[in-house]
Amino acid sequence: MNPKDFVANYELNSYRYSDFWKGREYEHVAEVTLLTFLLKKYVPDVNKREIVDLGGAYGRLAPLYGSTAKQVVLADYSSNELLEGQNRIVLSPYKEKVKFVALNAYRLPFALNSIDLLLSVRVMHHLKDLPLFFTELGKTLVPGGIAIIEFANKNHLLALMRHLVRLDVVPYKRLPVLRVNHQNNTSQGMKEGQLAIMYNFSPDFVRHTAVQAGLEVEGLYACSFWRIPLLKKIIPTGWLNRLEALMQQIAPHWLITPSVFIVLKKPGEFIESSILLGERLRCPTCCTLLHAEKSALVCSNGHRFEQAKKGIIDLRDPRPEQVDF
Ligand SMILES: [Zn+2]
Repeated sequence: MNPKDFVANYELNSYRYSDFWKGREYEHVAEVTLLTFLLKKYVPDVNKREIVDLGGAYGRLAPLYGSTAKQVVLADYSSNELLEGQNRIVLSPYKEKVKFVALNAYRLPFALNSIDLLLSVRVMHHLKDLPLFFTELGKTLVPGGIAIIEFANKNHLLALMRHLVRLDVVPYKRLPVLRVNHQNNTSQGMKEGQLAIMYNFSPDFVRHTAVQAGLEVEGLYACSFWRIPLLKKIIPTGWLNRLEALMQQIAPHWLITPSVFIVLKKPGEFIESSILLGERLRCPTCCTLLHAEKSALVCSNGHRFEQAKKGIIDLRDPRPEQVDF
């Protein structure tokens, strides 16, 4: 694996994810509304589960689960995002519950069968190798563990209409994955002139890939029904979010939205663990135990992870300097 082709490195170019969310209040509330429903429906015992917010960045969604989850791991490749997360979460009533872990989604630094609940929103569109990620997820989720994952839907209504006009809607719909063209003004996690690591997926492909990895598909849910620039301009955000909530209730499985959530479960019965996830951290390269050695965490095979930022457990493999284009 060439890390340059695989990891969207938000640590580059002083990129701030919080800036991305300015002007996207409608999308934020739409996601929170759906996640609130999904957590209630699929994880009624969330107080017994530790949550890994994969790609959680600065903790945008932490207020949603911070008070109810048993423990929280805010996980991201960018340690800068996690530092911003620390600054925000230190003001919250659940600050004691949160650990900050820098990691690569393809090499999760957790013991086998150890993640109770994984949440990942707006991350999958940066995953070039979805089968590899789902295999990693299948290994690290605990039996009965739940994953709620958002992905960018290739077959959203506007795309289908565009291809209907071009008379190629049937072959387009069959495509499993679409690599999204790089645009300088929306460049994320890459340097200018590089190919974007950004993908849209067909819901069928995501479902099929999850099943191949041994995961059960509990459901797929549509989100952001009204993500249309003109509508966002003329309809007040509050109203748009009321209409969104309505659509999520009456047409939850109408997968024509730009954003779709899939709920996955690892077969088996969930049993609450007495060992906290922070103590189940492992070497991301070889999955053996880690011990502290001066300024680093080192595994029994000698893989060494320098710890440079206070309060952040840095278990990134590859290291960011290997991903610097
Ligand atoms: Zn190792």
